[in-house]
Amino acid sequence: MPIKKHDRAKISEGDIVLGLMQQQSLLISHLIEFAHRHHGDGEVVSRRVEGDIHRYTWSDVSHRAKQVANALDDSHVAFGARVATLAWNGYRHLELYFGVSGSGRVLHTINPRLHPEQIAWITNHAEDQVLCFDMTFLPIIEAIHSKCKSIIQWVAMCDADKLPSGTNIPNLVSYEAWIGKKSASYQWPNFDENTASSMCYSSGTTGNPKAALYSHRSTLLHAYAAALPDVMGISARDAILPVVPMFHVNAWGIPYSAALTGAKLVFPGAGMDGKSIYELIESERVTYAAGVPTVWQMLLTHMKAAGLKFSTLNRTVIGGSACPPAMIQTFREDYGVEVLHAWGMTEMSPLGTLCTLKNKHLKLSESDQMKIRLKQGRAIFGVDMKIVDDAGIDLPHDGKSFGDLWVKGPWVVADYFKSEGGPPLLKDSDGVSWFPTGDVATIDNDGYMQITDRSKDVIKSGGEWISSIDIENIAVAHPSILMAACIGVQHPKWDERPIVVVVKKPETQLTREELLAFYAGKTAKWQIPDDVVFVDSIPIGATGKMLKTKLREQLKDYVLPNL
Ligand code: AMP
Repeated sequence: MPIKKHDRAKISEGDIVLGLMQQQSLLISHLIEFAHRHHGDGEVVSRRVEGDIHRYTWSDVSHRAKQVANALDDSHVAFGARVATLAWNGYRHLELYFGVSGSGRVLHTINPRLHPEQIAWITNHAEDQVLCFDMTFLPIIEAIHSKCKSIIQWVAMCDADKLPSGTNIPNLVSYEAWIGKKSASYQWPNFDENTASSMCYSSGTTGNPKAALYSHRSTLLHAYAAALPDVMGISARDAILPVVPMFHVNAWGIPYSAALTGAKLVFPGAGMDGKSIYELIESERVTYAAGVPTVWQMLLTHMKAAGLKFSTLNRTVIGGSACPPAMIQTFREDYGVEVLHAWGMTEMSPLGTLCTLKNKHLKLSESDQMKIRLKQGRAIFGVDMKIVDDAGIDLPHDGKSFGDLWVKGPWVVADYFKSEGGPPLLKDSDGVSWFPTGDVATIDNDGYMQITDRSKDVIKSGGEWISSIDIENIAVAHPSILMAACIGVQHPKWDERPIVVVVKKPETQLTREELLAFYAGKTAKWQIPDDVVFVDSIPIGATGKMLKTKLREQLKDYVLPNL
C-alpha cells in the first residue's frame, strides 16, 4: 500500500489502517479476577466497626463480590442502577466496590459526615435503589429513610444475628443474610468500557452538590497510572493502609490499584485516631499509608507524646489539602518516612499530580530537594494541565506566574451527573475544552505545579495576592501551633488583609506578638498577617479539610486592630 502524504485535515475513513490487537473493554471486574487468579492468597485485613480484626484474602473478596452481584440480580436491581454505600473503609465495602460495578451497576459512595438532610437529597438525586450502611450510621438511616424515595432495599452491613430490631426501616436486611446464601459463581458481564461504574458527590460549597460519574475505562486508566513508580508507586510487596475514606473519591483509587498489583490492603474502619492508626500500622506491618494532613497530624501528635517509632512504614501519600512543610520534615527526619505530596480533585478521579524528584535533582542538597518536595508535583501521564489568566490566555511555566489551573484527560469530568450546575468545561483560544479546577497555581519549567490557593481563598491585598497556604504553613512550623487557617478580612485601604486563626498545642504558651514575630524573614513584610486569633478548634469539613467558609461566618463580627 503506498504511503500517502499526511494531511491531518483530510484523513478519511479509507486512509485508516487499524491495528490488529484484540478488542477488550477495560472493566472493573477484570481487576478482581486478576487479583483472585494471581494474588489469591494476598491479604485484606480490616478493623471492623465491631472492634475486632477481620482477615481474609483477595480470593475471598472475589467470591463475595460475586455473591453481591447475585444478590443484586435477585433483588431485581437493573443494569446501570445506583447502589449506595454509607460506610467506613472495610472488607464489605471492598466487596461492594467490585460486586456492584463489576455487575454493571453504579456504586455511589456517600460521605456520612454530610448533614443527614444533604444525604437524603443526594440519594434522591442519584435515584439510589439500594443503600448499604455500616451500623455506626443506623441513626442517620432511621432519621432519613422515609425521605429517600427511590430506595427499594436497605442493607445493614452486619452479621445476620446483629440486625437491629425495633426499627421501622422497610425492606431492611443484614448484609450477611443478603449475600450469605447466594452462589459465589457469577459470569461477570462484558460491556462498553465507557459505562458508568461509580459516582461521588463533591463537597461543593455553593449550590447543590454535584456528582462526578466515573466510568470503567476512566477507573482502570487511573488505576494503572496511580500504581506507577513515580505516582503512588504501589506494588505486590506493599501493605497499604488507606486512611483516606472509601467514600471520598474511591479512597484515591487505592482499592483498584491494590487489586491491579496484588498489594495487601489494611482497612482502619471507624478508628481514625492517632493511637488506633499507629497500632494498625505496626501490627499489620504497613509499608504505605495515604491520608489528609489533619489525620496525620493526630498520628504524629500521638507518636511524639508516646515516644514511638515506625518499624515498617516507609512512604505516605498526603493530599486533599496542602501538606505543611513541617509535616513533610517530621515524617522524613524524625521517622524516616518519605512523603509523596499529591494533588487532585473529586472531578479528577482524583489524581492530577504527585511530587517525586527527577534524576537530576538527586545531586541537589537536602534543602534544595525539600523546596521541590513542598510543591504539589508534576502531572501524571494522562493529565494535561496549564495555567491561564482571567481572559483564558496561557501563562508561562516559569514557577513565578500564577493563574487559574486548567486540566484535561481521560479521568477528568466532562460533565456532572444530570448536568447539575451547567457545563463545567471552558474552551481555550484554540477551541480545546478544559476543566477549570478553581485552584490558583504556578508551574515551573520542570513541570512542577504548586498550588497558591483555592481561587476563593486567595487574599487580595492592594492589588497583590497573598497565598493563605503560605501563611498557614509558616504558622504550623511554630512548635506551639497545632492548626492554622489564614483568611482575608475587609480593609478600607487594602481591600483585604490576612489574619491567621490558630489552635495552640495543649499546655503551650504563645502570644499574638510572638507568633507575628515568627513571620519575620519568612515572608515579605506586607504579607505578614495583621492579627492572630486564638481559637479552641477550627471547623473541619466532611473530607477532613478546614472549612474556611464556616470560619469566616464564625468571625463575621471580627474587626481588624487599628481600624
Ligand atoms: P475534593 O474534590 O473535595 O477532593 O477537593 C479538591 C480540592 O482540594 C482541590 O481543588 C484543591 O483545592 C484541594 N487540594 C487537594 N490536594 C491538595 C494539595 N496537595 N495541596 C493543596 N490543595 C489541595
